[in-house]
Amino acid sequence: MKKHIFNPGPAVLPEFTIKNTASAVMNFNDTGMSIMEISHRSKDFESVLNEAVALFRDILDIPAGYSVLFLHGGASLQFVMIPYNFLNKKAAYLDSGSWASKAIKEAKLFGDVQIVASSKEQNYTFLPSGYTIPEDADYFHITTNNTIFGTEIKKDIDSPVPLVADASSDILSRPMDVSKYGLIYGGAQKNLGPSGVAFAIVKESMLEKVSRPVPSLLNYKIHVDNNSLFNTPPCLAIYTCLQTLKWLKDLGGLQKIHKINLEKSGILYDEIERNKLFMSPLTNSDDRSIMNVVFVLKPEYAGLQEQFLELAKTKGIIGIKGHRSVGGFRASIYNALSLDSVKVLVDAMKEFETKV
Ligand SMILES: *Cc1c(COP(=O)(O)O)cnc(C)c1O
Repeated sequence: MKKHIFNPGPAVLPEFTIKNTASAVMNFNDTGMSIMEISHRSKDFESVLNEAVALFRDILDIPAGYSVLFLHGGASLQFVMIPYNFLNKKAAYLDSGSWASKAIKEAKLFGDVQIVASSKEQNYTFLPSGYTIPEDADYFHITTNNTIFGTEIKKDIDSPVPLVADASSDILSRPMDVSKYGLIYGGAQKNLGPSGVAFAIVKESMLEKVSRPVPSLLNYKIHVDNNSLFNTPPCLAIYTCLQTLKWLKDLGGLQKIHKINLEKSGILYDEIERNKLFMSPLTNSDDRSIMNVVFVLKPEYAGLQEQFLELAKTKGIIGIKGHRSVGGFRASIYNALSLDSVKVLVDAMKEFETKV
């Protein structure tokens, strides 16, 4: 049976990406070698890396003055690299979810952290708003999409200080004005490729501003100067990202995928509102994510959790159990998750309603 993969990350990838990666694992570019066996300093691999960077630039319309990096350590190491490289005295953070709060924890090791607003007390059921970004901060950190709680900052906000964005789970899901950011980063395993590689789009004017010495492997400037080849990069993971970027380009880029993502999330949110069993835990519908759709059973039906998961399983629906800090369900509907898969989920919700 076809599986409908709603996993939050690692997550569904385009069939194009999986097939081409499988083939390159067996025999890369007719070299008679696996992509895992070639040198990262070879011309063949350098062209993989350069093409991935060029496509990233093209698709996201990244202006001059920014570098695109592929790094180890996931988004979580970026939580450390950001303050290490950019926090001299004080940084401002928006506390909009668990990942934001993990980023805050790391930043506190390097200097003052001002939390401009937080929805933690309300279990992150909305995006904090109406806050003021301090003008004396070295940067302002946001999480564009709160993967666990299903809220998303869908606009490029104005900030008086460099804006740093964890876009792990909504990168390349919609157009973004990169010029408004000092750094956009994330792990690849939500919307781009496998785990094992992170991306960072860094404004070059941000580099080398801190007074502390930074270890080489954690230093953005070193990675920029070495074109992500300071040490051995995750070659296979980068190859896989390249395939997804090609797929996205061929599909029609961000305008197109955004339209599809709005349609996918739209029919799912409509069903959550219509169906008598389910509801959204979010208190402001403007905050709803187009990537991670979180929903719960209404209190009077709360006992039906396992039953719905069982029904979903019979339809080939995978990965919709909600995060333990929210409960209920979470459908992660990243770029590669098809409209058809969303329709299968919507149909399962309808069927479940008639059975109760
Ligand atoms: C998944 C996720 C992370 C953690 O990524 P790792 O690559 O596992 O470190 C951080 N931030 C957000 C928004 C995420 O969705």
